[in-house]
Amino acid sequence: MSNRDYYEILGVGRNASDDELKAAFRNLARKYHPDINKEHDAEEKFKELNEAYGALSDSDKRARYDRFGKEGLNGMGGGGATDFTGDMSDIFEDLLSGFGFSSGRRSGRKSPRRGRDLQMQVTLKFEEAVFGIEKEIEFAREDTCSTCNGNGAQPGTSPVKCSTCNGQGEVRQVRQTFLGQMVQSGPCPACNGRGEVISSPCKTCRGAGLERKNIKKKVQIPGGVDVGTQIRLNGEGMPGAFGGPSGSLFIVVDVKPHQFFKRRENDILLNLDINIAQAVLGAEIDVPTLDGDAKLKIPAGTQPGKIFHIKGKGVPHVRSKNQRGDELVIINVAIPAKLTKDQRELFEKLAESLGTTVKMQEKGFLDWLNDALGG
Ligand SMILES: [Zn+2]
Ligand SMILES: [Zn+2]
Repeated sequence: MSNRDYYEILGVGRNASDDELKAAFRNLARKYHPDINKEHDAEEKFKELNEAYGALSDSDKRARYDRFGKEGLNGMGGGGATDFTGDMSDIFEDLLSGFGFSSGRRSGRKSPRRGRDLQMQVTLKFEEAVFGIEKEIEFAREDTCSTCNGNGAQPGTSPVKCSTCNGQGEVRQVRQTFLGQMVQSGPCPACNGRGEVISSPCKTCRGAGLERKNIKKKVQIPGGVDVGTQIRLNGEGMPGAFGGPSGSLFIVVDVKPHQFFKRRENDILLNLDINIAQAVLGAEIDVPTLDGDAKLKIPAGTQPGKIFHIKGKGVPHVRSKNQRGDELVIINVAIPAKLTKDQRELFEKLAESLGTTVKMQEKGFLDWLNDALGG
């Protein structure tokens, strides 16, 4: 595996679009293809390019690479030079034919190509992300044309064998090139490699065999997902070509904030005001949790910033529902801003009894809040 950054190898920015990646790869692959470039390091550079493009052209791998670097690709069949996707082989085909080469082992008939991946966002309420939910999603996708069933011919007619290539889908040509005489085989231009031609194209899809459809689908979102979680639905992306598989649909999760609860990985944080008497004397109080109220015992002498853990009332782990985080209740002691006459008298008595001495703190509120929350 190469040690250089994949984006650097391809000479593109981290925000490069798929098309920019492809264009950069094409240009460099032309320059370094070992059949063309006889410099000693061309092959090495070409391998490096393949590895970089193989990783970045796959949206799943690219997302992992962006987050975790090359480590993120381990175990994904990742990044290796042999990992040609359908898209890659297509690039090679046109790259090589541009030089008058046939790609050899491949016939001119177009090879199966995987469909493109699609991506959509789904916004969940806080509780939906915590506990999971079945969501109906709607998205647009190219799909088999329902008028012609995908064969591209007007109903009642059918595609006929291509006379240019005799149904083979490929044509051979002998060409003079700078490297001598070469036999080139390539996709038949008359039928575009299909081996058959459509004389009266379907009016719905103009012969393409595909039409844009709105797809509605129920998706089970597991509990524990968070902002940025991606759910992959295999086979729900764009259809493949020439018998290739469909791409994937990636659902990217967004989560609306909750009015009171905050989330820190699998723990829920809740800031709670108790009154000064509860802090001084102790109390048993009802605390809201995601599962309804829970009892919490506040010991006498509780200081502001004290954090109580309510076990198992946090967020379920995405991969094991039985494990849940905790709810962390962060105590604030609310100082009353308005007092009744009676309360004022009581506080005045208290003031007299407590005196006027003050004490310096070695550690303040923020210090031990930080300690408790681990930085
Ligand atoms: Zn059609
Ligand atoms: Zn043909």
